[in-house]
Amino acid sequence: MKLDNIRIVLVNTSHPGNIGGVARAMKNMGLSRLYLVDPRQFPDEQAEWRAASAVDVLEDAVVTSSLDEAIADCQFVVGTSARGRRIPWPLLDPRQCAERMAVASEKEQVAVLFGREDRGLTNDELKVCNLHLNIPTSADYSSLNLAMAVQVVCYELRMLLDAPSLPATEDAEWDTPFATRENMERFYTHLEETLVDVEFLDPAAPRQLMARLRRLYSRVRLDEMELNILRGILTETQKWVRKAKASDSGPGPG
Ligand code: SAH
Repeated sequence: MKLDNIRIVLVNTSHPGNIGGVARAMKNMGLSRLYLVDPRQFPDEQAEWRAASAVDVLEDAVVTSSLDEAIADCQFVVGTSARGRRIPWPLLDPRQCAERMAVASEKEQVAVLFGREDRGLTNDELKVCNLHLNIPTSADYSSLNLAMAVQVVCYELRMLLDAPSLPATEDAEWDTPFATRENMERFYTHLEETLVDVEFLDPAAPRQLMARLRRLYSRVRLDEMELNILRGILTETQKWVRKAKASDSGPGPG
């Protein structure tokens, strides 16, 4: 496992104290790459105070204005959530999930996303993830403090650092790099356009089609070559649709 390939991404954090608490939780467990997406208040004295001897993690934190920017180069993205969502996604506990992240981190950039204190991650943010992680809790109160949730996840990663060996998964042996988030987003845009062109997707009533297709592709994980093949198929499909539409609108038989 390469802890340096695993980043913790905090989305829209309200309380700077929590950001400091996260930095400390990370450094205690040997992680150092912190990304802050549009934090409400940062830098801040409270963050430094709570970080204690992990101020270096705060100083090195990368601040971005969008989630896309923070994870553009990642091939494996995990979203954390305190509750179930409308479209169920593959859901793992921290221990199972740490194993998957540890294997991926050998060759890939991995991100774990943590949401806002008041309302977590949005459905759209959860949809960019390969997996969802839920920390098992009492049914009476399932929402942990942000820094404590980060602590649990980082602890499970730490435990694997000292483990004798990681499972030999198919992903670990794969010969072609998996697609990055940025390229997957380009693919989804292209796919959506094409589905509208062929009139499979009605933009006026899209329902959950794109969410379901995202779930399908994040479950199999496309490599760069597979992604290029699919993009090629979409481009050709669009060409034929254009030809068909041009001849439809041409002079009719009269
Ligand atoms: N009320 C929010 C909870 C926000 S807690 C909600 O219902 O989603 C802030 C963040 O801490 C969450 O977005 C998530 O990243 C993390 N978190 C808190 N409790 C968690 C749990 N039980 N499992 C996984 N992540 C959790």
